[in-house]
Amino acid sequence: MPTPPKTIEMFEARLREQAEILEQTALSLLAQGREVQPLVAADTADQAALSYEKEMLFSQSTQGRSDLLLVQKALARIADGTFGDCVTCGKPIGQKRLEAVPWTPRCIECQERIERGEIDDSGRAA
Ligand SMILES: [Zn+2]
Repeated sequence: MPTPPKTIEMFEARLREQAEILEQTALSLLAQGREVQPLVAADTADQAALSYEKEMLFSQSTQGRSDLLLVQKALARIADGTFGDCVTCGKPIGQKRLEAVPWTPRCIECQERIERGEIDDSGRAA
């Protein structure tokens, strides 16, 4: 059974909202990263703390970017009418799963198989 248009609209609204949040987060992390930079550390301990902080900010923004990519891909699937279908097996993703994680590209079965290393995760790069 195809996902009713009203539900798609609801998911699209949530995805757009999520994309906006992630973009804002990425921007503010970027701004924080810039603030950390010009500080002159008094000693090497401070220097280490500073580079640790920069690392953290960097990994957070990297994570944010890959989340944003997932959300953008989900929006693209809404546009081309494939939203709600698993990108790996093509079967419909459960409604409950979509409600919990609307940007998920896969059904729970495929996700679990990837986590167990049973199938290749190449779909992520596509
Ligand atoms: Zn699947």
